[in-house]
Amino acid sequence: MVPTDGQGLPPIASEVKQEIDWACRFGHMRVHTALHLLSVVIPLPVSGGSIGVAKGRLDFNMPEAPADKAALQAQLQALIDRDLSVTGDWITEAELEANPQLVNTMSVASPKNAGRVRLVRIGVGGAQVDLQPCGGTHVKQTSEIEKIRIGKVEKKGKVNRRVYLHLDG
Ligand SMILES: [Zn+2]
Repeated sequence: MVPTDGQGLPPIASEVKQEIDWACRFGHMRVHTALHLLSVVIPLPVSGGSIGVAKGRLDFNMPEAPADKAALQAQLQALIDRDLSVTGDWITEAELEANPQLVNTMSVASPKNAGRVRLVRIGVGGAQVDLQPCGGTHVKQTSEIEKIRIGKVEKKGKVNRRVYLHLDG
């Protein structure tokens, strides 16, 4: 949340009006959901990431560079084009602790809220491709992401590689 220019934060308990910058929010939703799918086509532990309006990145524990970036991009685009639904569920922290395989992100704590954890699922039933704890914003259907492009892959330290993803149009 960004206070109006030249003003500090309003006093606690004051009534405020919040407006969402939809172009910015929708960009974040598309990029963030696309990064979920990037972690599906690159099934390696994630050690970091960031999102913007038109691009984002994930850092993977990936000792070797991907052999065929074009193939990865085609796989990712095919998942997006399947128009999978993105839905949420809540489980208890105890259920999450009993299912540690749900957490793919090594350095980011799962969002927790009064003993409950939100799970985000992409695809349902036999078409489910991703299920992980997440507190981010997502599109409702993967087709809303539209066209993507996998950009640079940078080496970051001994075992990490940073993979950039761009919305392409
Ligand atoms: Zn998410």
